[in-house]
Amino acid sequence: AKELNSSRPQIFEPGMDTQAIQRWHLETDLRLGLQQKEFQLYYQPIISLKTGRIAGFEALVRWNSKTRGFVSPGAFIPVAEETGLIVRLGEWILTEACRQIREWHERFPRNPALIMSVNLSGRQFSEPNLVKQIKTILDSAGIEGDRLKLEITESMMMNNVEEAITLLNGLKELGLRLSIDDFGTGYSSLSYLHRFPVDTLKVDKSFVERMEDVKDSDKYISIVQTIISLGHNLNLDVIAEGIETEGQMKVLEFLDCEYGQGYLFSRPLSSENAEALLAKENYL
Ligand code: C2E
Ligand code: CA
Ligand code: CA
Ligand code: CA
Repeated sequence: AKELNSSRPQIFEPGMDTQAIQRWHLETDLRLGLQQKEFQLYYQPIISLKTGRIAGFEALVRWNSKTRGFVSPGAFIPVAEETGLIVRLGEWILTEACRQIREWHERFPRNPALIMSVNLSGRQFSEPNLVKQIKTILDSAGIEGDRLKLEITESMMMNNVEEAITLLNGLKELGLRLSIDDFGTGYSSLSYLHRFPVDTLKVDKSFVERMEDVKDSDKYISIVQTIISLGHNLNLDVIAEGIETEGQMKVLEFLDCEYGQGYLFSRPLSSENAEALLAKENYL
């Protein structure tokens, strides 16, 4: 993308690598968007399937670009990742998520279990000073580490297992909680899983969705059941994501899954709407 920036106008000739050009434009807009504060966090409730109450939220970044309108994270996170912009964006996401959970704790002291989950990208995970950076963010937000949970994927940890374990231990020393996101979709890490100091497995929504597959529902229910048992055998909590139907919820409850997340309960909400939901629950 850097090359496109240099003065070689012939590269913009029609039909030439339009994909690279689009990418370059996206990168420029992302950079600008960061400066202009076009990003926002939305919060999707994570529900205890045992009590029906809100156990926490997952922070999900939203980009409302002046030039492009709404852009989904699936479209811009990979570009932010490749260009390194994710490091600054990710720092903002962590800072804002910690500020928000602190505010909700002050407003809803009767809901002390409230935890904020934040997605970490591969690039952030390999930043040499990640632990220090997070410590600084926690301190300036004035929260304990155990309020924050980081979601990481198997693939991020499998690049260099020993290094990953050291890093995860450093994060645990800050008191953080750790989740393996999209479990079952990345490289298999079964032989390492017991060595990762994590607290939670998140069952990927592709499995949850297929539990109602017309042909293969039995198979997918077995897969989900296996992931849940695996988690429990390793003393981990399990969160099922992408729950959209009562049927899925019932099966997951039956399989003893602790937590659920999905449109059945709530879409990701703006800060105001998430707070309104908390306010309603707190006075039940
Ligand atoms: P993810 O971490 O697996 O996040 C879950 C995605 O599933 C979110 O999409 C969420 O809105 C969506 N979702 C939640 N419930 C349901 C449901 O019942 N049905 C369906 N079909 N989808 C549901 P979103 O917000 O578009 O994010 C997509 C991906 O982008 C995330 O997947 C994550 O990998 C990445 N992402 C989002 N926010 C951040 C962030 O702040 N930092 C980083 N590094 N990545 C992020
Ligand atoms: Ca996630
Ligand atoms: Ca996920
Ligand atoms: Ca996913």
